[in-house]
Amino acid sequence: MTKFQKQNFFQNTNESYELLPFRFARINGRVLLTNLVGEYFFTKDEVLKSLVDGTLPNDSDDYLNLRSLHFICDDQTQSAKQLLGIKTRTKLSNYSNLTSLHMFVISLRCEHSCPYCQVSRQSDDKLAFDMSYETASKAVDFALSGPSPRIKIEFQGGEPLLNFDTLKFIVHDAKEKNEAIGKDLSFVIATNLAVITDEILDYCKLHDIEISTSLDGPASLHNHNRPRPGNNSYELATEGIKKVREKLGFDKVNALMTTTDKSLDDPRIIIDEYLKQGFSGIFLRPLSPYGFAIKTKKYNAYGSKKWFEFYKTGLEYILEINKSGVHFREFYSATILKKILTLKDPGYVDLRSPAGIGIGGIVYNYDGKIFASDEGRMLAEMGDNTFEIGNLATDNFKDVFLSDKLLDPLEQSMTTSAPRCSECAFEQYCGADPVFHYATTGDFLGKKAESDFCYRNYNTFSHLLDTYDSNLETRSIFESWIN
Ligand code: SF4
Repeated sequence: MTKFQKQNFFQNTNESYELLPFRFARINGRVLLTNLVGEYFFTKDEVLKSLVDGTLPNDSDDYLNLRSLHFICDDQTQSAKQLLGIKTRTKLSNYSNLTSLHMFVISLRCEHSCPYCQVSRQSDDKLAFDMSYETASKAVDFALSGPSPRIKIEFQGGEPLLNFDTLKFIVHDAKEKNEAIGKDLSFVIATNLAVITDEILDYCKLHDIEISTSLDGPASLHNHNRPRPGNNSYELATEGIKKVREKLGFDKVNALMTTTDKSLDDPRIIIDEYLKQGFSGIFLRPLSPYGFAIKTKKYNAYGSKKWFEFYKTGLEYILEINKSGVHFREFYSATILKKILTLKDPGYVDLRSPAGIGIGGIVYNYDGKIFASDEGRMLAEMGDNTFEIGNLATDNFKDVFLSDKLLDPLEQSMTTSAPRCSECAFEQYCGADPVFHYATTGDFLGKKAESDFCYRNYNTFSHLLDTYDSNLETRSIFESWIN
């Protein structure tokens, strides 16, 4: 008995057209077809059946649409295969410039004590958790030795401003060393803004340093999520945002929110707060299962299903805001829509295949350890060093990027060959998160049928495509988000 059908079983009996690779999914009674480069087509079951049977009439609208979108080719369109190849190469072109984001954890100290914090922070009087000049200099050498023409150095913590001397040292060291190299160098500080001063802002102005901060919602929610002495995290953050805008410019500060179980009550009050603070959008991001988020059991407080309901309500509200004439984006949706509607991959770390660990961004810990991602570092704080991929004291760029510790999870993260993903209609838009799957299931691949990552992405892609394709007004709002 043979395991597979003979080759001629799969050959098209109708000579008029040839099928090009595609996958399909059913969404709200319609059939979605997607091809190799993410072009999509909504149709009916009968059309799909006729398409694969080789009986689709070549004068039908479906035939002409599917041919122009590279789902089929015929005698007149043999160049479709080459075009598909060129589009695939364009989509993957980001990967040649590996690692433009370099995260420097210059202090683990923090004066906040957020229960969901992804960093297992140290109390603010422990100088032992600051990065030394010697380690900082090695991290700068490492960052500048990679192939990417653009290098973004992001200062992280704890609270990086508690080690401002090392931050200044890194900026000077990187600029000086880069004079001979000529990369496009930029800096951003990820800070809660509680300890920002005029001196720090003057320095940021001088060196064109941007600020990324946290804003979880209105005062009651933000201060509940982010306890600190004085219970005034919100007041300090919003005053800080104002000061940054006055000194550095309105667009020099952005904010990220973290969705906790308390945020799920009503996304609209969080969105209203972002509007009140003058932001042009919000990233309705879920909580990651690392660090204090696990220790304090916050991650288990809600799963992806609850997050998805929260996201849908938030997105609906944001669409209403746009319909009233105010341009305001949901950034996760905008990133996905860009992947769906254009050939430009925005390079978002969680939606890359192979995964973005190491090759999208890399982390230098205060003590010289190198991690494949921020989440990998958080896992190490919990005692698991799986994603520790080197040490600045002993390893150079080549050692780290050719090590099995990085290549092994990267190889397993290819969605084109991963079980379930390889057949998924959303594979071209999706990515892999080996750290998340390792943290939650113990292996890099995870079981997609049970994966919160998969649930979240599958439903978000499905919802966005259905919403985009069903309503002209929504379609033009979504298009304005990606332009
Ligand atoms: S993770 Fe889920 S949504 Fe993403 S490609 Fe794999 S099966 Fe599809």
